Formats: sequence, structure tokens, C-alpha cells
Amino acid sequence: MKTYNKINENIIDELKNITGEKFVIVEKDKLEAYSHDELMEPSCMKYPEAVVYAKDAREVSEIVKLANRENIPIIPRGAGTGLTSASVACYGGIVISLEKMDKILEIDTENMFMTAEAGVRTAEIQRAARENGMLYAGDPCSGESSFIGGNAATNAGGNKAVKYGTTRRQIYGLEIVTAAGEIITLGGKCMKDSTGYSLLNLVIGSEGTLAVITRVLLKLMPLAPEAMDLLIVFEDFRKAIETVPKIIKLGVNPTCVEFMDNAVVQNCAAFLREKLPHDENGHYIIVKIEGGSRDALEEDCVKIDELCSANGSVETLVADPVRIWKARNSFAEADRAASPVFSAEDLVVPPAKIAEAVKYITELAARYGLVVHCAGHAADGNVHAHILKGALAEGEWHEKLAALQKELYKTVYSMGGKLSGEHGIGYKRVELMSEFCGAGELEMMRAVKKALDPNLILNPGKIFKVEA
Ligand SMILES: Cc1cc2nc3c(=O)[nH]c(=O)nc-3n(C[C@H](O)[C@H](O)[C@H](O)COP(=O)(O)OP(=O)(O)OC[C@H]3O[C@@H](n4cnc5c(N)ncnc54)[C@H](O)[C@@H]3O)c2cc1C
Repeated sequence: MKTYNKINENIIDELKNITGEKFVIVEKDKLEAYSHDELMEPSCMKYPEAVVYAKDAREVSEIVKLANRENIPIIPRGAGTGLTSASVACYGGIVISLEKMDKILEIDTENMFMTAEAGVRTAEIQRAARENGMLYAGDPCSGESSFIGGNAATNAGGNKAVKYGTTRRQIYGLEIVTAAGEIITLGGKCMKDSTGYSLLNLVIGSEGTLAVITRVLLKLMPLAPEAMDLLIVFEDFRKAIETVPKIIKLGVNPTCVEFMDNAVVQNCAAFLREKLPHDENGHYIIVKIEGGSRDALEEDCVKIDELCSANGSVETLVADPVRIWKARNSFAEADRAASPVFSAEDLVVPPAKIAEAVKYITELAARYGLVVHCAGHAADGNVHAHILKGALAEGEWHEKLAALQKELYKTVYSMGGKLSGEHGIGYKRVELMSEFCGAGELEMMRAVKKALDPNLILNPGKIFKVEA
């Protein structure tokens, strides 16, 4: 197991020389916010020795060079909205916060691209695109808080991935700082690129383990003039989920197809202190469609309603977009209010297997006496299953959760599924990764890691174990 050096006074002085004194934090009480992300599991909380706020790529480069020379871990940090403890300091070291790098640098309306620093909030990117008559299609539910650099580092998904793909599909270029401290540009504004390996796609989703992302080049799309949101209510969950692939086959090209099981609907209604339609026993499918004309969208809505009625829905409502997406996006917050500690499973299965997967996890959780709430990206086969700790004692919680996860992922893999659809592996899933990811695939990942970060200083302890 690789060991790292501790930070001493000389290193703190060097950091202050790079960024200025006020941009280096070492006080324990101020470091607390950086000891965890949105996963509030106490066993995953790890304090860094220092947090440094970089203001540009040159400062990032100087900090990384210093850490590489002194054998000190570097943990890149976005907004800390992750759900896998991917930005905690497993081995101490320096957190590089990107939050001061928060400028949109260019909106190229002719080629339809935006260049932004890594610390710009996702919602700010969406707003800036919209103000210029375009769409940024990345749309994680955490978008009001998360940073675009964090979205790139996790290959964030979200509500619109069914139509536009995950963040990977929106990114055409990156500026990165390598483990050696080199500033390098990958990709560019070309619509095609077969020029050697796709290093761009290697860095996207690498969770801060291969490079620090300092700039992101994003593709923008034309903004659809019209949109409609439907809330389709079913009393039978299986029927609800089984209708989703049929909606996709209708050819209406939905922008979002989400689901919330009744436990989630009830919990969100209680959290928001609102009456939600059929909250007493309804399971929700939420569909957004976008297009050029209201008439065409209304025709598509009729087709969706007819299909869902024929497949057992009890009501289709044209939804107020603000209300319905507020309910959907409050899923995690509502669960946090119900149980400050919960495990957010992010399993993904082939789309046609989603009903089977949700049924299985509901029965499994009941067998372990654990409460589970399921919602997620129905058409992507991506289930967010929140397993709530509630009042369980620490020891019992860990024991039950570990046993449940082993059974769960064995079944998920037998269905052709995977550990994570969009949240990533982080620190939380390292053990599961070594158990369920194929040995050959893991070896290739380790070889890439060692080639690009031979001293293993970038975000150690994440995704997989690797020996020096
Ligand atoms: C309420 C809620 C809803 C969510 N909904 C979604 C959703 O719909 N879809 C989804 O995919 N996720 C979702 N998430 C998870 C999370 O928001 C995403 O993973 C997001 O992309 C993380 O961005 P961040 O800026 O907060 O990154 P952080 O949490 O700070 O970091 C995440 C990882 O990225 C690395 N990293 C961050 N910035 C950089 C950088 N500049 N360079 C290199 N590495 C970096 C970190 O080291 C860490 O490994 C949700 C979370 C919450 C709390």
C-alpha cells in the first residue's frame, strides 16, 4: 500500500506563495465542509490537511507540481454534491477547490459552443445558453449546485440523458492539468475527431483520478420553442415501468422519462407539505416532450395517453412543469429529511429489465427489514434506490447494508447491469468495484492510472485499489 507524506509548514508557505495567503485553509473547523460530500455516511468522512482555492490553470499546475514533488495527495473538488464520497481525502493531502474558477469564457453562437471554467454551476451554464437562444442539454437534478467540472469528472447523467446522452456527449474539449502539472488541451470545436485515442473520453468520468479539469468546451443545441410535461399515474408499479419502453418505441422522442414509486411520491409530498396527485397510492411516470409546434406536441400527448391507458394507467395529467420537477428533484432532500444517513444505490440495467430490478430490490430490502425508496431515470434503466438507515444502530446498519449490496449486485450483474449509471464509484463503492468489475477491465484501468499518474497522487483511494 502506497504511503504519502504529511503537509508541513514549508509546504503551507509554498501553497500560500502560489495562491495568496487567504486562499489556503488549514483550520480544522473550516476543513469540516471538505471532509464529506452529500453522502453523510460517517464512516466515509475524511479530513484533508489543507484546502487551496486555485484561481486559474497556472495555479492548479503549480499546486500539482508541488504535490507530485513532495508525494502528497491532491483531491480535486467541485461543489461537493457527489453521492459516493469521491472528493474526500482518504489519505489526507490537499483539496484543490475549483470554486473560484467560475467564469463563462466564451459563447460561440456561430458554431454553437460554450467554454467555461470548471467551477461554473451547471444551472448557470443552462441559463447562459438559454439567454443566447440555445440549449445546454446536461441536466443533473443537482444542477443548481453542482459544477460543470464535477459533471465532467463524474460523467453526470440526469433527466435529459434519454434524449441527449450523459455529460460525455455534451463535451467536445477539455483543458486539464496532468499529474505532472502540465496544462494540456484535449478535443476542440470539430464535430468529428478520429485523431488517435480519445483521451477526452478517458478523462471524462475519471473522478479526479487522472487529471484536474480546469476548462470545459460544451456543445450547445437549438432550443425547442415548445415543451409539454405529462404526469402519468399508475396504481400498479410493474405496469408503470413496463410501459416505459413502449413510450420510447412510439417515436415521440421524449426529452425526459422519469419514475417515482409510491413511497417516494408520499415522502416528497410530506417533505414539500403539498398534496400531490394520487399520492395515496399512485406510482408516477413523468414525461417531457419538446418540439417545434404546440399542435404536434398535443398530438404526441394524445398518443402517449392512449398507450398508457391501454397499459393500465389511471390518469394522465398535463403537469405544471415547475411543480412536477420540483417534486421529482426533491427526492434526495426528502429522503435526507426522513433519514440523515441513507445509501444511494445508482444501479443500471438494460432498459427492459428495470421493472424486474425494482421488484427485486424492494423484496430484498423487505427481507433485510430495510426501507427502500426507488425513483430514477426510467428509460435509461437507471434506478436510484435509497436505502434508509432510519433508527438502526450503526453496527446493524453496516452489516445489513453490506450483505444486501452483495446480493443486489450479484443479481444486477446477472441481468447485464452495472454498479453505477451516473454517480460513479468514488470511495463508497471501491470494494464492490473489486468484486463485480471484470478482472481484465480492472487491470486495464490500473495500467492507465499508473501510466498517467505514476506517483498515484491524484485522488487516491477512489474507483479501485492500485499498488505503487
Ligand atoms: C440532490 C442531488 C441530485 C443529484 N442528481 C444527479 C443526477 O440527476 N445525475 C447525476 O449524474 N448525478 C446527480 N447527483 C450527484 C452529483 O451532483 C453529480 O455527481 C455531480 O456531477 C457532482 O458535481 P460536483 O461539482 O458537486 O462534484 P464533486 O462532488 O465536488 O466531485 C465529484 C467527483 O469529481 C471530481 N472532480 C470535481 N471537480 C473536478 C475537476 N475540476 N477536475 C477533476 N475532478 C473533479 C472529484 O474529485 C470527485 O471525484 C445528485 C446529487 C444530489 C445531492
